Amino acid sequence: MELLIDGLSKTYGNGVKALDDVTLHIPTGMFGLLGPNGAGKSTLMRTVATLQEADSGTVRLRGNGTDIDVLADKEDVRRVLGYLPQEFGVYPRVSAWQMLDHLALLKGVTRSGERRDLVDALLKKVNLWDHRKRRISGFSGGMKQRFGIAQCLIGDPLLIIVDEPTAGLDPGERNRFYDLLTEIGEQVIVILSTHIVQDVQELCSRMAIIDQGQVRYSGPPADALRAIRGRVWEKAIDKQELEAVASQHRLISHKLVAGRPIVHVLSDGTPGDGFKAAEPNLEDVFFSTLKGGITEHAPA
Ligand code: ADP
Repeated sequence: MELLIDGLSKTYGNGVKALDDVTLHIPTGMFGLLGPNGAGKSTLMRTVATLQEADSGTVRLRGNGTDIDVLADKEDVRRVLGYLPQEFGVYPRVSAWQMLDHLALLKGVTRSGERRDLVDALLKKVNLWDHRKRRISGFSGGMKQRFGIAQCLIGDPLLIIVDEPTAGLDPGERNRFYDLLTEIGEQVIVILSTHIVQDVQELCSRMAIIDQGQVRYSGPPADALRAIRGRVWEKAIDKQELEAVASQHRLISHKLVAGRPIVHVLSDGTPGDGFKAAEPNLEDVFFSTLKGGITEHAPA
């Protein structure tokens, strides 16, 4: 399977250019779409999920006997799409089992025996079987996200889009969610839109970085890491030195370790000044890719 996004642009009525000539070719597997808040990720995901229109450009989903013009043939897309939106809406006061049964019916699984088997299997897959009789409104964040995955797997989708899925999950819940996505991501296209670098680092064999509606990088994370190897330098500093470091060097990130800032800067040769060579991580890639560098705290 591949999803071919070519020259996609979208300007909102208020003049914000959310997508600016976006071209991305996404193969089977887990694809990370990384960008800061406001980069255009949701706009891109919602457009591919047929929930809103683009101004120009094309999107095609093809392979395995499928060839869909995504922007034109919306009904065809919806049949093969699983979508977990950023906001799943109000969680109903009905049980997980009842809700999934209802959603499966809406997705066209009309035979009740088949639907019961499907709902049972999905609840087991996402590890909610023991909680099937509980109201979804009382679920934890991680359980709600796993329920979201169960509903997006109805109908064996070829393309799965998850928008900011790990925001608000505690580390244990996040790991369980990662395991589930990894299992699913082997045969289909999974696009994981996130501002959390760790999500991409742990899960994705390919990624893109977008900012201000434009693709800044697209390819394997390993290639991006290679590209900045030997150019990232680190140093522990005092808080009051931060401003001076930011003005003298190309600061790509700083974070507190045991209350003390550790800064990473980008430099072709040694910046001197007590800096040591650092092994680049994906956060360095992310921040050094963003236009002008970022001097804020790295997202947790
Ligand atoms: P992300 O998902 O990366 O945070 P979005 O796609 O939500 O980015 O937003 C991209 C830009 O478009 C932002 O500047 C945002 O404020 C703007 N935007 C998003 N939705 C709308 C809308 N419906 N109307 C006007 N501007 C919007």
